[in-house]
Amino acid sequence: MNTAEADLRSVRSEVQPVLIAGGGPVGATLALYLAQAGVPVILFEGAEEFPLDLRASTFHPPTLDMLDELGLTEKLIPQGLIVREFQFRERASGEAFSFNLARLAGVTNHPYRLQCEQYKLVMTAAEMLEQYPHAEVRMGTKVLGYSSTSAGVKALVFDGEQEHCVHGSFLVGTDGANSRIRHASATLFEGLTYPERFLVVSTRFPFERVFDQLRWVNYVSDPDEWCVLLKTRDLWRVQFPTDPAADPEQLLSDAFIQDRLQRLHPKEGDYDIEHRTLYRVHQRVAETYRVDDRVLLAGDAAHVNNPLGGMGMNGGIHDAFSLGEKLVAIIREGADRHRLLDLYDEQRRGICIAFIQARTKENKRIMESKSTSLQEERRKKFRRLAESQEEQDEYLLESSMIKSLWDSLEIGKEKPADKGREAA
Ligand SMILES: Cc1cc2nc3c(=O)[nH]c(=O)nc-3n(C[C@H](O)[C@H](O)[C@H](O)COP(=O)(O)OP(=O)(O)OC[C@H]3O[C@@H](n4cnc5c(N)ncnc54)[C@H](O)[C@@H]3O)c2cc1C
Repeated sequence: MNTAEADLRSVRSEVQPVLIAGGGPVGATLALYLAQAGVPVILFEGAEEFPLDLRASTFHPPTLDMLDELGLTEKLIPQGLIVREFQFRERASGEAFSFNLARLAGVTNHPYRLQCEQYKLVMTAAEMLEQYPHAEVRMGTKVLGYSSTSAGVKALVFDGEQEHCVHGSFLVGTDGANSRIRHASATLFEGLTYPERFLVVSTRFPFERVFDQLRWVNYVSDPDEWCVLLKTRDLWRVQFPTDPAADPEQLLSDAFIQDRLQRLHPKEGDYDIEHRTLYRVHQRVAETYRVDDRVLLAGDAAHVNNPLGGMGMNGGIHDAFSLGEKLVAIIREGADRHRLLDLYDEQRRGICIAFIQARTKENKRIMESKSTSLQEERRKKFRRLAESQEEQDEYLLESSMIKSLWDSLEIGKEKPADKGREAA
């Protein structure tokens, strides 16, 4: 055994596990990150089996770079669809503006989006976790609450038959938008819920054959009914807004869905419908991601936003890497816990408010805008982008979330002026 392996073994035997509540994409990624760094971890998933959750389908370039470090990207690529170009389109005129992610080749190893359902990430990560004896996945086990001291944390879990207490070094709430951990810590989830629900419908119908110049990812603006048309490996997914006053049962009915699709593209006979789901959509951010010195929030437990731009899960995976890196430094190298956990909150909460929340709200505003001057503003912006390669590159860096990652890493960096002050 070499020194590094011996060192790792001693870390595993001395350290209490990091407890992770919630085995969605964020919890599963964090568990794998910690397991690969030799940190003991227990992932609790409330469901008996990982849910076949279809919500997120877009993985952005920097997320693929990160997942690559864990060996996940190469396993996801064959399960998804590589998309180099995405498009903004005017529903009425068909005018289209396309952006090519290949232009980012100098700054990312993955200059494309991967369209792949989020459950495939969870299942692949869970399978990889099996090879680490210090990583445990407890299915059908809900985390109900916790207590924490400066020395560690105790989680109350329910395995379907019994309640148990499990001790750990840290507890991370990755248990989604209705997070128990966030509720138990009386952490506010500030923001708004949109009145309209989003309807997502999947079909095998080949839209690429009927719409001219369609790409595999298309944001379609319209003052009456915007929509998003996304392709995964086997299906087209269409997202529409719905009338806030409508009955949810009616919105999910065959008649309603067929009518919406026929309005998008009239054709003979019904569309085949593979999935249909109605989502409530929110813009909310927890008042802190660092509940105390032992309890943290990440992913949807910490922030939620509308899906226009595909930033919720991606942002959550960026949280998992930021937090994972800091927990490893604290646990393995004895780094300053207070400073690093504060930094996690400043970096990830800071960038969520400054960029992810702002950008997704703006995406919705420009797609649904009813005012003719705003619609003209949108068209002008895209025409300008189409003409200037420099502005296009800026836009690609931003919309692919690369710039937000760079910006988050700048937060909390020691500035030369701070050094000078310390020395004085
Ligand atoms: C229509 C739609 C489309 C979207 N598309 C995209 C996209 O393309 N790209 C993107 O980046 N984002 C997208 N999102 C957002 C994305 O789905 C979420 O941001 C993502 O699922 C968050 O992952 P998470 O792991 O934080 O939480 P979740 O995925 O909600 O996972 C939480 C997990 O915790 C478990 N759990 C809950 N409570 C407990 C408990 N008490 N104890 C133990 N386990 C518990 C749940 O069973 C679940 O498995 C979309 C969202 C919607 C609604």
